[in-house]
Amino acid sequence: MELPYSEPFKIKMVETIKKSTREQRLQWVKEANYNLFKLSSDKVYIDLLTDSGTGAMSDKQWGAIMTGDESYAGASSYFTLKNTIKELLGFEYMLPTHQGRAAENVLFSVLVKEGHIVPGNSHFDTTKGHIEFRKAHAVDCTISEAFDTTFIHPFKGNVDLEKLEKVMIESGSKVPFIIMTITNNTAGGQPVSMQNLREVRALANKYHVPVFFDSARFAENAYFIKIREKGYENASIREIVKEMFSYADGMTMSSKKDGIVNIGGFIGMRDKDLFQQASTFNIMFEGYITYGGMAGRDMNALAQGLREATEEDYLEYRIGQIAYLGNKIKEYGIPVQEPFGGHAVFVDALRFYPHIPQTEYIAQLLGIELYIEGGVRGVEIGTLLADRDPDTRMDRLPKLELLRLAIPRRVYTNNHMDYIAAALKNVFDRRNELQHGFRITWEAPIMRHFTVDLERIPTTNQ
Ligand SMILES: *Cc1c(COP(=O)(O)O)cnc(C)c1O
Repeated sequence: MELPYSEPFKIKMVETIKKSTREQRLQWVKEANYNLFKLSSDKVYIDLLTDSGTGAMSDKQWGAIMTGDESYAGASSYFTLKNTIKELLGFEYMLPTHQGRAAENVLFSVLVKEGHIVPGNSHFDTTKGHIEFRKAHAVDCTISEAFDTTFIHPFKGNVDLEKLEKVMIESGSKVPFIIMTITNNTAGGQPVSMQNLREVRALANKYHVPVFFDSARFAENAYFIKIREKGYENASIREIVKEMFSYADGMTMSSKKDGIVNIGGFIGMRDKDLFQQASTFNIMFEGYITYGGMAGRDMNALAQGLREATEEDYLEYRIGQIAYLGNKIKEYGIPVQEPFGGHAVFVDALRFYPHIPQTEYIAQLLGIELYIEGGVRGVEIGTLLADRDPDTRMDRLPKLELLRLAIPRRVYTNNHMDYIAAALKNVFDRRNELQHGFRITWEAPIMRHFTVDLERIPTTNQ
């Protein structure tokens, strides 16, 4: 019998989490105006809001915390991190930042100007925000297969090279760089193939523009290349990571993901001139170039986290656990996005509640029902997140209306996964009892999903 994957760690410290009753949860979620962001975490039993900054550090990382060097300039912790990044990712120059969006802010302060066009594969919201804030445009060139949750494609994070070349032909002179997000978060944690990265590099060379990677989940991406892409079966994760980054001129990183730390980020670069320009902005926005918003101890923990995230046993467990949950949910007949991504399972609300209009925020409805059923908190990736069209002020109805169940790294066991799937099954079995979703009673002018207030649309019996 083939042995199943299992956790490559044992647990030496635990944190108690509290169960609650359905009656309590009905009350709490109503008080939160049906916005799961407004629940205090002690009201949540299993928290799948995000995999960002929510991972469990190892004993080695906690050990590294104790030996952090808190010198303002030239701390040994900075050199530990810098050397680790050079060794694992291959970048000569590095600037620490307090998190991923700060890395974007610093890098884009150098590179993005008004009127610029930045093509890529489904830019992450903060990436897009930092581009649009500078009166430039993000153009999404993701392959169209990514928007069909039932279509099986091993690399749904890929860029469509024809779409990308069209952008380069039409507005090449206004393109400061191409950005590749690995894995593609917005399309569901879907990986980008090595071939696609190589082809993007070739296209960038043809039009003389640099390529940057938004690298939050680069290690998960490398594991998908190993198990799905021909020719990489026998390559080590570290070799794959090295080759991936060999196609980039630089990268931004949210260390809260594959750095397995609770806060932090960095920029990796090859070009000295770019490093020098970015250093000025780093000093202005983040901190001196050898700490950039991070404590020495946190840089130590991050250096160790990058090593652990690029170990094959860890990634086999990580991706295996997502697939374990995904398969459970799928066996119950619940519509999920396939193939499963690297950090989350995405439930397809359009197929879950086909009888309720998308305009009634049905992925949010699904999230609320799951919370009431089991105290499990997911997050809506749908119409609330997509916000209103700035011109017409109408809701933009996205192609994908999803409930994301993001799995924190090394935090929950497969018994928790069984519990989540069972709670979701109960919600699914009762799906036809609901006729309506929500309407908005208050919303902020931008990024409304964090603070929106909702009320249930009552069912009327005519
Ligand atoms: C999380 C994330 C970011 C932003 O990083 P923060 O650390 O949250 O600021 C950028 N890009 C991607 C793909 C991400 O997942």
